[in-house]
Amino acid sequence: MALVNEHFLKLPGSYLFSDIAKKVNTFRITHPKQEVIRLGIGDVTRPLPQACIEAMHRAVEEMADAGTFRGYGPEQGYDFLIEAIIKHDYAPRGIHFSPSEIFISDGAKSDTGNIGDILRHDNSVGVTDPIYPVYIDSNVMCGRAGVLEEGSKWSNVTYMPCTSENNFIPEIPDKRIDIIYLCYPNNPTGTTLTKPELKKWVDYALANDTLILFDAAYEAFIREEDVPHSIYEIKGAKKCAIEFHSFSKTAGFTGVRCGYTVVPKELTAATLEGERIPLNKLWNRRQCTKFNGTSYITQRAAEAIYTPEGQRQVKETIDYYMDNARTMKEGLEAAGLKVYGGVNAPYIWLKTPDGTSSWKFFEQMLYEANVVATPGVGFGPNGEGYIRLTAFGKHEDCTEAMKRIRSWLKR
Ligand SMILES: *Cc1c(COP(=O)(O)O)cnc(C)c1O
Repeated sequence: MALVNEHFLKLPGSYLFSDIAKKVNTFRITHPKQEVIRLGIGDVTRPLPQACIEAMHRAVEEMADAGTFRGYGPEQGYDFLIEAIIKHDYAPRGIHFSPSEIFISDGAKSDTGNIGDILRHDNSVGVTDPIYPVYIDSNVMCGRAGVLEEGSKWSNVTYMPCTSENNFIPEIPDKRIDIIYLCYPNNPTGTTLTKPELKKWVDYALANDTLILFDAAYEAFIREEDVPHSIYEIKGAKKCAIEFHSFSKTAGFTGVRCGYTVVPKELTAATLEGERIPLNKLWNRRQCTKFNGTSYITQRAAEAIYTPEGQRQVKETIDYYMDNARTMKEGLEAAGLKVYGGVNAPYIWLKTPDGTSSWKFFEQMLYEANVVATPGVGFGPNGEGYIRLTAFGKHEDCTEAMKRIRSWLKR
């Protein structure tokens, strides 16, 4: 008899986006003439940069010729892409890596979800709350999160609240935690940590032998000077942190699939006996066994992001989204709402007025302004009382949505 992994059975269904879809559907059936604007989506809408398109076409031609055809590539990724990453994302910030410290992936969701493979099942886990649900759910699946308790919290997970009360700066824990997930710029709140703030986490990790899993998926959206683009900008971080990157939001790769993960050579974790084991070696072994690399065509597309044309085109797209973010932030503030984020990230985190619940405000916005958002409580207990709006839509839609929200709230 095959037995199931019963940890999966502890997972509450992930109904957030299907619940939203159901509510939007009901509205559309009962209000067929109303046009709904969707600002809830977490997916990009602008096409791929031309430089990537051309690189993919060239790569396809290579695949069509026996002389240049490529089969299995290195599990860790091709050197041409790894070298472009080291040269453009790290060297200019004074951070130096050897190629074997960078692992090309098919995206940051896979790697942030899979990294737990190389870590014992009974490590304690800490997350900022609200947060990208993958971090918690992937720990539930292997039993590391413990059991679900009252208030929708897992027994072995420490939740570090990020709310307007602490200006979305999580407090450093007053106890030891083995593994901590940080995501900056943050999804869903759109907020960031300054370099001195992030340094506190690195110092905590070094003092407590904590492993930080740092998700930098929105690094490309950073506009302000004092916001770190990489945790390795902070001294000592190579000894305590793994960093995840994605080309999904940066360059519209959500459907193409490519990212990378940095596991520094000097980063170690302990066995029960206290022996220190380099995590780079373990992650390499894990990838070589369970992953056969990102496609050649995709890696050529990713390489093109780092060409001068690619960089210019990526910037244009990000500017487009960040224009939306500004329109939305200003529009919502003008409507008398309290909003956060939207400056270094494509997300606006809106505090619902008068303590209205996330779902209630979601429905009001849908029925009164015909605008779809995402209820903040879907990202964790401390997301209650907020909703998330994304800047990934069209300019015209963002402008129109703000107009509608303003006239709704004036009524
Ligand atoms: C979108 C997103 C990712 C990227 O996932 P991919 O698998 O690379 O598409 C990673 N982390 C966070 C927090 C995200 O919002």
